[in-house]
Amino acid sequence: MAKTTVSDLDLNGKKVLMRVDFNVPIKDGVVGDTSRIVGAIPTIKYVIEHGGKAVLFSHLGRIKSEDDKEGLSLRPVAEKLSELINKPVTFVPETEGKKLEDSVNDMNNGDILLVQNTRYEDVVDGENIKRESKNDPKLGKYWASLGDCFVNDAFGTAHREHASNVGIARAMEANNKPVAAGFLMEKEIKFIGGAVNDPKRPFVAILGGAKVSDKIGVIDNLLGKADKIIIGGGMTYTFYAAKGYSIGNSLVEKDKIDTAKEILQKGGDKIVLPIDSVVAPEFKNDAPTEVVGEDIPDGQMALDIGPKSIKLFEDVLRDAKTVVWNGPMGVFEMSNFAEGTLSVGRFLGDLKDATTVVGGGDSTAAVNQLGVADKLSHVSTGGGASLEYMEGKTLPGIASITDK
Ligand code: ADP
Ligand code: MG
Repeated sequence: MAKTTVSDLDLNGKKVLMRVDFNVPIKDGVVGDTSRIVGAIPTIKYVIEHGGKAVLFSHLGRIKSEDDKEGLSLRPVAEKLSELINKPVTFVPETEGKKLEDSVNDMNNGDILLVQNTRYEDVVDGENIKRESKNDPKLGKYWASLGDCFVNDAFGTAHREHASNVGIARAMEANNKPVAAGFLMEKEIKFIGGAVNDPKRPFVAILGGAKVSDKIGVIDNLLGKADKIIIGGGMTYTFYAAKGYSIGNSLVEKDKIDTAKEILQKGGDKIVLPIDSVVAPEFKNDAPTEVVGEDIPDGQMALDIGPKSIKLFEDVLRDAKTVVWNGPMGVFEMSNFAEGTLSVGRFLGDLKDATTVVGGGDSTAAVNQLGVADKLSHVSTGGGASLEYMEGKTLPGIASITDK
């Protein structure tokens, strides 16, 4: 079902409540990586340029006691946002009460206001009651009462049901006020939702990363949808064990060997495994490496896919019209084991007429770090959320956006 987006809303003169993802790293009051703030700017700009009053909500970190609050104030983020968007941003250091209400009511069209960290509501009077994180409906209702409509642009928390995303949305809808996706959210729905649920074929999934156990849901869902599933990365060797190959000291989940067998049986020739690996005696970048076939020698661990596997994967990917990729092909953090991930990333970037989508926290980090992100159709901003979306789960943050 198509979702309402911010461009469907009448924003002029409206108090537009916005859930953004400003969960950025902050050290000693200084914001580190600003990419999440930058990512929210197009939607914020659109709202203010259309005469809306942008009232921003975000969580930051985890608050378990009163002592956590000071270090997790959003004040530095308000300052950084102001600098990046080149406009004043009013920061309200509270999440509730007259000061917040007056500040919202005093806004002019085009103003921006940032509310204190929504997780301040998790600890009230010293008690860890998780009003925000457990979606206390009263809190969502209260926040919703501050505005005229709600725009959710925080894909990174879409897999969670919190007061500041789902709570506000439900309360808004109960009052017949619109709930819309921001541009970031819209893009995630279009690319991940589109690829997984309505792919152009051939549809190839590439699944790698560390553990089979983390990826069972994704494999299960995509097994029913993709035309081919390429498996790489550390989880390869649990599949190798299932096939009876020797795996040396490679990563293996012994309790998932039976699961791997079932997946292999269910998938049949849909599943493509690496045929060679780069191995080393130690988990170190400067360890001596060699390329071996499907049996990993004793005393060696497989840390990347080998050149024949890269070639094999390229042959499978060449005609793909949709590619979903989660999980690096090797230990990309070390330059000597990054080639598999880099080659697959480059090849995807050069595919013509294909929609190429990357999701997952480390996978996103990998394509960014290796410089191949720009040529892909979509690199998700949500780690856990993108995985759950690829698993075919309904994400509460998306479900609570008004259908068109
Ligand atoms: P994502 O966060 O994108 O879902 P994962 O967390 O599943 O991805 O996997 C990423 C991790 O997998 C990386 O830290 C990478 O080093 C590790 N990895 C990939 N291949 C191997 C391997 N052959 N042996 C050990 N670890 C690996
Ligand atoms: Mg990860």
